Amino acid sequence: MASIQKEFMSMLEGIGKERGFQCQKYESKIRRINNIIELSGRINCLLYFKIRSESPYRWGVTKNRIEELQTSGKKWFIVLLLETPNNGYLLTDQDVERYVNESLWPLGRGKNKNEYKISTGKTLQYSKPFHTVGDFINLLGHLPTDKESLSEIPDMRYEEYPPNKITTTITRAVRDTALSNKIKEERNYQCQVCGTTLIIKGKGYAETHHVKPLGQEGPDIESNMLVLCPNHHILFDYGEIAVSPEDGIAVIDGGGHGIGTLKPPFPKKEYIEYHYHNIYKK
Ligand SMILES: [Zn+2]
Repeated sequence: MASIQKEFMSMLEGIGKERGFQCQKYESKIRRINNIIELSGRINCLLYFKIRSESPYRWGVTKNRIEELQTSGKKWFIVLLLETPNNGYLLTDQDVERYVNESLWPLGRGKNKNEYKISTGKTLQYSKPFHTVGDFINLLGHLPTDKESLSEIPDMRYEEYPPNKITTTITRAVRDTALSNKIKEERNYQCQVCGTTLIIKGKGYAETHHVKPLGQEGPDIESNMLVLCPNHHILFDYGEIAVSPEDGIAVIDGGGHGIGTLKPPFPKKEYIEYHYHNIYKK
């Protein structure tokens, strides 16, 4: 597996711990496929990875792989990575169908006749670029996935995950699980927006939100964190709600109307401002 893909997968695993999904190599009926990853949990889908080649710069997407994905019965995406794991394109199955049907993807010749040759520009006009792994997850979250299953949540508890292998390059995007657990406990698993405490199988359940996202250079420190219920977590992530930077306390909806007051402790003003201007206002 190419190192860019490995690094990308490590980051996904880090984010998965926080967002309730796991990643593993996909085992088709016939064999394990290295460049297809299966996400399960709160996001269920297959991701087929391709890394852009050296000059002539392009991706070679295999026709057989697409057929394998189509017959998998799962929601699937193609991920085209550039030279870093933080830049690439996310293609849905509908995108792929359009490219193929409209003959925008030429098939290679000779020994590559089973591969579509894809470069940037017109051959990717229907697809969305991403610039951080956090961005990528947001794109994925906006796209249809299989139904979320509440019964899977207890299995998602962070302490049940095996420790992550961390390399210096990915440290930024991996959650400090111990810190996250500590502040959830200190704040009684209570959502700082609505005050709800969810109890699942006798234990409190809450999520930690990074006000300035880790994928966008946000630090993994207490003053950048909020403890939230899953509803308010997702609303913050997608910028449907925000904390007003004016007073750092009022929670506002998409129209700028107050919907409540944040319970302390409050995040640092600069992170609130970042979220407000870069995620909420977008
Ligand atoms: Zn809430």
